[in-house]
Amino acid sequence: MGTSRLEPVIFETCVRGCLAAGVLTAVMLPAAASAALVHADPFPGGYSVQRSLPVHYAFMTSWDGIEWTEQQKSVARSAIAHLGAQFLFSVPFVEITGGTSAGTGSEDGPPAPKVPAFTLRWAGGDFFRDWPATDPEFFEGTGEQERKKFDFSDHFALTYKGDSESPPRVPWPHAHYPINEIYFNTGEVWGFNPFFVDEFKLDFWTVLMHEVVHMMSVEQHSDNPDDLMYREIEYGQRKWPRAGDRALLRNAGYAMIPLPASGMLLLSVLALGVAAGTLRRRRNA
Ligand SMILES: [Zn+2]
Repeated sequence: MGTSRLEPVIFETCVRGCLAAGVLTAVMLPAAASAALVHADPFPGGYSVQRSLPVHYAFMTSWDGIEWTEQQKSVARSAIAHLGAQFLFSVPFVEITGGTSAGTGSEDGPPAPKVPAFTLRWAGGDFFRDWPATDPEFFEGTGEQERKKFDFSDHFALTYKGDSESPPRVPWPHAHYPINEIYFNTGEVWGFNPFFVDEFKLDFWTVLMHEVVHMMSVEQHSDNPDDLMYREIEYGQRKWPRAGDRALLRNAGYAMIPLPASGMLLLSVLALGVAAGTLRRRRNA
């Protein structure tokens, strides 16, 4: 199981069970601001699912028929592959194509499962809205009795996770909004440019990686503003996985690549040693 260290709630409600981590909340973007802060906060008490690698994922069509474009899929695959390169496992993420009802495993590797571990879906105002809690006892003991609803109206992405044995215990239409899905708000202004992030757009590449890390059983956020898993991101900001992000995944039970800082330090020392040895030989010659 992943760690369950939790941080204080800043913007959202805690629910028992729970709607899992991975809620990135967009603060209203001031019209004149070039880099408004976007706050991210998890649902405390999020249910953690340790994934066994490789993890299979799939693109889903939204409930109102919005497909992923090839460009969007390309950016998503690239981001997931980049995140995957942080793992010591050779290919930690594998896409299931051709529908999720019939897995298409490669000829060399193990057959793909029929059901992906997580899916990616666009969602609009039907999802990113104020949800009333249907269970009157749902918030009992959570200290959140005052707020008997889930207000997703200003979120731009949400990760909802659990497993069939311990599904999130929330008054939630699971059949329509299934467990283990990452939802992206169609009402947000997303940037898909692989080389440039418009200052008024949210970088899809960055947000996707952030949400996938949550999906991998990481509930917490990083304390370092430069980290992918920091709770905030700015419009126009692109982030890459850093040592702090790998530490979160390592704590969640995955074997990750070594910290680049120590690795680079070691290489630098070796290089210096070679240089010093070369100089010494030349001097003695
Ligand atoms: Zn988050």
